[in-house]
Order: sequence, then C-alpha cells, then structure tokens
Amino acid sequence: MTNLEMIHAYGHERVAYFNNEKAGLKCIIALHNTNLGPAVGGCRLWPYASEEDALFDVLRLSRGMSHKNAAAGLPLGGAKGVIIADSSQKTEAMFEAFGEAVNSFGGKYFTAEDVNTDTKDAEYMLRTCPYVVGRADVSGDPSPFTAIGVFDGIRAVAQFMNGSDSLDGMTIAVQGLGKVGMDLAKRLHAAGAKLIVANNTNRSAMKYAIEELGAKEVGRDEIYGVECDIYAPCALGAVVNPKTLPRFRCKAIAGAANNVIYDDACGEALKAKGILYAPDFIINSGGVINAGQEAFTTYNEENVLKQVHNIYNTIYRMLEESKATGKPEGVIATEFAENRIKNGLDA
Ligand code: NAD
Repeated sequence: MTNLEMIHAYGHERVAYFNNEKAGLKCIIALHNTNLGPAVGGCRLWPYASEEDALFDVLRLSRGMSHKNAAAGLPLGGAKGVIIADSSQKTEAMFEAFGEAVNSFGGKYFTAEDVNTDTKDAEYMLRTCPYVVGRADVSGDPSPFTAIGVFDGIRAVAQFMNGSDSLDGMTIAVQGLGKVGMDLAKRLHAAGAKLIVANNTNRSAMKYAIEELGAKEVGRDEIYGVECDIYAPCALGAVVNPKTLPRFRCKAIAGAANNVIYDDACGEALKAKGILYAPDFIINSGGVINAGQEAFTTYNEENVLKQVHNIYNTIYRMLEESKATGKPEGVIATEFAENRIKNGLDA
C-alpha cells in the first residue's frame, strides 16, 4: 500500500506537511479522526531516512491514537505530529514553529511530548500555541499513570487465567526498567510477584531491582524464552515477531510497550500457541488518560485514576471476547475502538 492509499484506507481527515526553513522545521501532522472530539497525540522527533518514511509513521501512529483514545473512553480523536530531525538539531525556534503548525488546526489537534521531545520543548510550543497537553504544571509526567494502568491490566489477566487477580507468587518477566517498567516492577513486587528482569544498560536500575525487589537478572535476549506466568514488555515495540514467537514460554503477554505484535500473522500465531495478550493500546493508555484531560476538562487526578483503573475491566472484556470468538485480542481491541469511533463512546 502506498502512503496515499493508506490515507484513503485509514480515512484520515487531514494530513499536512510543514516546511519552515528559517526555523529549521520539517514536519508532518496527520489528523486521523475527530468524531469523538478534538484529536490528541504526541509530537515525535526522529531522524527519518526520508519524508516517505515519516509520512508512513505518522499515518500509522495517528490512527493508533484514534484507537487508543476511543478504547480508553476519552471524548478525543486521534492525531500525531512527526518532526524530521535528530535530537542534536533541536532549537527553540523549531518548536515555536511546530506550535504554529499545530495552531493552524484551530484547536482540532492537541499535541504533547513523545519520543525525543520533552516538557522543555512543550514550553517552546506553548509560546505560539495553546493546544499542548501533558503540561508539567498541570497533568505532569504520564509514566506513573501508565504504570498503574499496566498493573491493573496484569491483574485482569491474572483474574482471567486463575479466577483470582492476586499476583502473589506469580512469576512476571519485565523487559525494560525505565520510567514505566521500574514503577511497574515496584508495584508487582509489592503485590507479591516474583520478578525476572532483562539486563538493562541502566546499572543502577538493575541494582535496585535485584537488591530491593529480589529480581532475577537474565540476558537481554534470554527474556523472550524464560518460563513465567506473564511477560511484560516495557522497552521496545515488535517484540512478538517471527523470531521470538517460537521461544515464548509465558502464559500471557501484558506490558507498556507500543505496537508489541509485529503483524497480524504474529497475533494469530500467539493465539494459536494459547498465549493470552493484553492489547497494548488499551493496557498502556493510562498516560493519555492523564494528559488528555487537559484537552476537554479541568484536570482532576481523582477522575483520572478512576478512568485508569477501568483498564482492568476493558482488558478483561477483550480477553473474554477473544475466547468467545477465537479472534486474537488485538483484533478484538481494534474492532472495539473502531465501533466507538463510528457510533460513539457508549457503543
Ligand atoms: P524509557 O525510555 O524510560 O524506558 C525504556 C527502558 O528500556 C530503558 O531503561 C532502556 O534502557 C530499556 N531497554 C531498551 N531496550 C532494552 C532491551 N532490549 N532489553 C532491556 N531493556 C531495554 O521508556 P518508558 O517511558 O518507560 O516507556 C516504555 C515503553 O512503554 C515504550 O515502548 C513506550 O513507547 C511505552 N509507553 C510509555 C508511556 C509512558 O507514559 N511513558 C505510555 C505509553 C506507552
């Protein structure tokens, strides 16, 4: 499928390319769908090899945001922005110009931080544009909310597997001890789970996990084949792929990483192996549930937590429907989100 065919197939509302030579900004903003409300999706900065590659990425990511926001029950659509540059090229002018680009959507697109962009960059965007969420002084760091949602999603998986959502004594393999993975590991340990962690270049995180959380360390590649109840990917995407698939000896996969499953065929193969899967864009939606509030209501942490805890119910429902229909959980999740985008949040 060419990128243009993809725009038609995915049904994007608007895709805009911005070239501001003076500010050193080349970016694409893809507004996928605003049926449920203004679209929210982060601004990613990446040294794409070509503009075609950037377009491919932003089309896929923006549609993913429509699915994520709808499944989370947010009155928000989906969009994404990508800046074609590497981190060494970042300037205040670049992000001010990006703010102007966001402004040209007249409030239909709210941006946020994403890969290689941070709260400082968001401050520069705010000089030229009010449509920025995830502000340091309002909803703040999304990671703890993402971790809470993943923890609840894992409990829902346990409930589905064992008829109890207690994690006491369960073995959980966590890949990636970053902002989300470490927070999750602490919660899992407090709930009585035995941890296996993949070797991480962040040695202080490893030391903490081993000494304070009693985690067992395995090699970076070894994590895919460890015998465990749940494998929680919290580092990279596409970790369920033709190479790793034959190696999995877990009963379920549930973690924070985006785009965990490489393609539909891998989703089918995982199902055929009898391994449960908590769809990534549902289990990791705690962060956008938190930041997204800024786009449609006054931020209130209590309301956010209520919605984040609902991830438990949504994951459980996806597992039940997958069992009843025989379709992979990821397919069920996409259908669930698309039905809401078409027919409203009560659908
Ligand atoms: P992070 O960059 O803070 O942490 C990632 C960690 O993984 C780092 O410590 C890194 O060293 C480690 N890592 C990378 N490759 C590894 C490997 N092969 N083996 C073991 N460790 C490896 O990122 P984060 O914010 O914690 O996010 C983790 C994942 O969750 C990402 O895929 C991200 O896209 C996704 N996610 C994060 C949020 C959020 O709120 N932060 C929300 C939704 C999804």
